[in-house]
Amino acid sequence: MRGSTIAAFAFGFVAGMAALAGVLWFSGALRTPSRTQAQRVVAAVPHPPTPAAQPVTTPPVTAPPAQGEAERSAPESIPDHPIVPVQGVAASQLTDNFDDRRDGRRHDALDIPAPRGTPVVAAVEGNVVKLLHSKLGGTTVYQFDDSRTYCYYYAHLERYAASLAEGTLLRQGAVLGYVGSTGNAQANAPHLHFEVHKLGPEKKWWKGEPLDPLKLLGHGSE
Ligand SMILES: [Zn+2]
Repeated sequence: MRGSTIAAFAFGFVAGMAALAGVLWFSGALRTPSRTQAQRVVAAVPHPPTPAAQPVTTPPVTAPPAQGEAERSAPESIPDHPIVPVQGVAASQLTDNFDDRRDGRRHDALDIPAPRGTPVVAAVEGNVVKLLHSKLGGTTVYQFDDSRTYCYYYAHLERYAASLAEGTLLRQGAVLGYVGSTGNAQANAPHLHFEVHKLGPEKKWWKGEPLDPLKLLGHGSE
């Protein structure tokens, strides 16, 4: 008699668990979509639908980030370890003016003051992709690093180094020009205006995401 009681109990237990599992299955609690399915859902519905309870006229609770914040890049370290592109100047001497407002927009560059004629050197190794004389930048050089991931821009040059041409391969530290005040720089304040851009897939010298040069130069860590 004792054995049949245990058997009946065991049967009841198993049957109960099976029923519970069935209920949970149909209620969806045990059905976790696979990672792939979850990704497909996300990809197919980029913007979650507005909850039905929320009035259509209600503005979004979270304001979109300001334009400047959206463009700002996280500190990034460049494997080439760029050097300060003006001879005799250390990163510790420089002031970060990347976020300064200039003519109503963010500077997006590092100004490196130096006496007129001081050699300007390549921050990294790579080819000159463009030599341009522009109204704002004056005499300028655009250089890609060897991996063509970043573009380095040197502006307000007094003049180019002799024999510099588009396509020239510059070793890191090679002289490419001299500090001046061409373009919109003040004549009594010669400096190098230096920009670093992370290039997009199209690899255009005029198109990229500005990075703060001084952070790339290891300011504060030396
Ligand atoms: Zn500048």
